[in-house]
Amino acid sequence: MEKTEIIIIGGGVVGASVAYHLTKRGVKDVLILEKENRQGLGSTGKATGGVRAQFETDINIRMSLYSIDFFERWDFDCGYEPRGYLFFATDEKQLDYLRRNVEKQKSLGVKAIEIVNTQTISEIVRGLNCEDIVGGSFGANDGFINPLGVLEGFTRKARENGAEILTGTEVISIETRNDKVVGVKTNQGVIKAETIVLCSGAWAKELAKTAGVDLPVEPQKRQIVWAKTAEPLPSNLPMVIDLGSGFHFRSAVDFVNPSAVADGTDVLFAFPDADGKSSFDTNFDESFIPKVYERAKHRAAFLAETTVVREKCRAGLYENTPDHHAIIGGCEIEGLYFCNGFSGHGVMHSPASGRAIAEIILDGKASFLDVSCLSLERFTTGELLHETSFI
Ligand SMILES: Cc1cc2nc3c(=O)[nH]c(=O)nc-3n(C[C@H](O)[C@H](O)[C@H](O)COP(=O)(O)OP(=O)(O)OC[C@H]3O[C@@H](n4cnc5c(N)ncnc54)[C@H](O)[C@@H]3O)c2cc1C
Repeated sequence: MEKTEIIIIGGGVVGASVAYHLTKRGVKDVLILEKENRQGLGSTGKATGGVRAQFETDINIRMSLYSIDFFERWDFDCGYEPRGYLFFATDEKQLDYLRRNVEKQKSLGVKAIEIVNTQTISEIVRGLNCEDIVGGSFGANDGFINPLGVLEGFTRKARENGAEILTGTEVISIETRNDKVVGVKTNQGVIKAETIVLCSGAWAKELAKTAGVDLPVEPQKRQIVWAKTAEPLPSNLPMVIDLGSGFHFRSAVDFVNPSAVADGTDVLFAFPDADGKSSFDTNFDESFIPKVYERAKHRAAFLAETTVVREKCRAGLYENTPDHHAIIGGCEIEGLYFCNGFSGHGVMHSPASGRAIAEIILDGKASFLDVSCLSLERFTTGELLHETSFI
């Protein structure tokens, strides 16, 4: 292809959502360029599959509210399961933080969210060591989605509406003339376009640089251990998160073949390892296993008495910005837009972010939700956002 109207760089869940929302608005010439030979090999295929409205900032809460509602009503089964998210606190300061967040979440319209005491926590998660837990928050509409399911849904519907996807096509540079985009140079040749949306996840910074834009998105390795429990886990086990350490666990699902894991003895656990420096390395590091077990052993015997399924442990990349919020919008180069830097929330926020960028491109601004606080400009004006409850 030599020319198209809109090029989307990156065929992960964000690029697919952008394509879906643009084509839903009637744009026909939408082309996704994906460097790998199939979709889902970036961060999307590595995600834990959590979705929650339990955030600190208005924008994250609103993005989640919109997206959870979208997942629930979508005429495509993306595996949305409202099993809840339980955050627990191990000191009063953390509990106060959760109390403030819950008040804000309620004021913005989050339903079925409450502060829970230690007794309730021990009932929600039988077998959890609650000795050092002082309370927590539980959001019943939070829960799980299948990241590859969401990706498939957006891609399939975007294609039905006319979008095209070229896999095995790596964008080498974004071409500009007189501060306007004119196309991209790829390993398959040049493709002209006057609108480009950069959705290349953790790999966005270098591409933005080719257009002369400094995009503060850094890759960070994040790992997950997959293990088998001795007894089946309760079928209603929520996502459980230690607010202080970030240690979390959930029952595991094979996103490629969700029915493959059916006996309830598969569990995922992880924590944000401070050793994870900025890097594009996605090899699973064995030394993570004892670190995560140290935390698991303290928290529950049913987690400690598990057997690691080494071939299912995985490592992927967070695409972090300095304030852990996404970058959604344009820049000083006419026709160049960013949908990046989700810092660990890209799957759950994909419905809101795809719609936002489609409205920004077609209408000049997002009107279903004001996302102006997520502009790239904030890093030069210093209007950074503040969110502590990222994991
Ligand atoms: C361990 C882990 C757990 C996570 N858990 C969750 C979770 O529970 N919930 C949640 O919402 N999020 C979670 N995330 C974050 C989530 O996975 C990401 O935010 C999301 O997948 C970002 O989607 P994306 O489409 O921007 O990126 P990606 O899925 O990485 O897609 C970007 C695509 O761009 C392609 N690309 C890159 N460079 C080029 C190029 N030059 N030319 C063409 N194509 C290119 C890549 O191949 C890739 O397919 C997790 C991430 C990790 C690593």
